[in-house]
Amino acid sequence: MVRYGELSTKGKNRRNFIDRLGFNVRQAMHDFPKLVVKAHRDRMHIQLNGEDSTKVMARLKQVFGIQNFSPSIRVERDIEAVKEVITQMVAEKFHEGMTFKINTRRSDHHFKYDTNELNDMLGGHILKTVPGIKVKMKEPDMILRVEVRANGIYLSHETIDGAGGLPVGTAGKAMLMLSGGIDSPVAGYLAMKRGVDIEMVHFFSPPYTSEQALNKAKELTAKLTPYVGKIQFIAVPFTEIQETIKEKVPSGYLMTIQRRFMLRLSEMIAKKRNGLAIFNGEALGQVASQTLESMAAINDVTTMPVLRPVVSMDKNEIIKIAQDIDTFDLSIQPFEDCCTIFAPPAPKTKPKIDKARYYEERLDIDGLLARAMEGIQVTDIKIGDEFMNEKQADFAELL
Ligand code: ATP
Ligand code: MG
Repeated sequence: MVRYGELSTKGKNRRNFIDRLGFNVRQAMHDFPKLVVKAHRDRMHIQLNGEDSTKVMARLKQVFGIQNFSPSIRVERDIEAVKEVITQMVAEKFHEGMTFKINTRRSDHHFKYDTNELNDMLGGHILKTVPGIKVKMKEPDMILRVEVRANGIYLSHETIDGAGGLPVGTAGKAMLMLSGGIDSPVAGYLAMKRGVDIEMVHFFSPPYTSEQALNKAKELTAKLTPYVGKIQFIAVPFTEIQETIKEKVPSGYLMTIQRRFMLRLSEMIAKKRNGLAIFNGEALGQVASQTLESMAAINDVTTMPVLRPVVSMDKNEIIKIAQDIDTFDLSIQPFEDCCTIFAPPAPKTKPKIDKARYYEERLDIDGLLARAMEGIQVTDIKIGDEFMNEKQADFAELL
């Protein structure tokens, strides 16, 4: 039994939120074919039908928009049947001196007993049949939840925290600029947590960057798929742009102008794919490209919102989230991405907008952008997809 998060307060949008959450749960569980997901107005019910509850619950914990959930048993609306199952539940967990209480809720008021009567009858029955157990109202060892609904009575004694946030997709679609680093996957996670459906935009520069660097970005994407089911990964060839900039622009402005191109391309991709904004992993003050002056000089090329979920976090705080979502170990693997390779020795920490514009006049901006757009490759990445190990296995065979 799944309890909805914040969406309960969203008034007339409620139906959308619930439908979307139902859809997302079904996607996230696509490899458990026997599950039946029913998204009702006040609760969602997931019938296991023999699927492994531990695995299903682990997956469920990653779906945004869920406040908490309880593994439950559905019993017929027959008080004797309830007594039998509830006693079993208690007996399974019983230990010397155990305390309990019963919490009844009726969402169907036609049932012949009210909540107090149910609490008394069931509590009394447990006291009689489980010797040594005691009732305790404040902080008992076990809270037995009994929920009377039209289609049965639901029994549970455990409440597990969900991921919180809003169902992915309810906030619309946006592009995430995904590098191979620590910050951008965290930014993506935070965007999804607030309901944004993200697509990854990754710039790569063969032959300067390896196949493994590209695979690393795909694998990072795969790490984020459990929150949504699947994510589109858009690889954008960046070699010609980087080579041209390197040749024609003073080295102090290499980085600024490369980033301006990345942002222009991200915007073009967003417009083509109905994205409303661009997310990235910039944090203020981390590196040369992340001063306010630098952000201003880069941001100059677009009017689309550029959102930076980790902008005010310390590196340690970002790392903590990266570890929690299991992207950290992958992010620190040393496969250079396109920015590291073309990084100038001394990038300007305070680039000027007019200088950036001036140096770009030497470039065929439209032609460079158009050719990069032509080379885009889109991959559909699903839960459980792997990209790193494949190659490593081939490699091992060669040895
Ligand atoms: P990250 O840890 O995400 O790589 P970073 O601290 O290394 O970030 P930068 O290298 O300055 O910072 O990159 C800033 C942001 O620009 C990244 O968080 C990412 O959103 C975007 N970015 C950088 N390189 C790429 C790339 N190759 N493809 C797509 N986006 C990129
Ligand atoms: Mg980086």
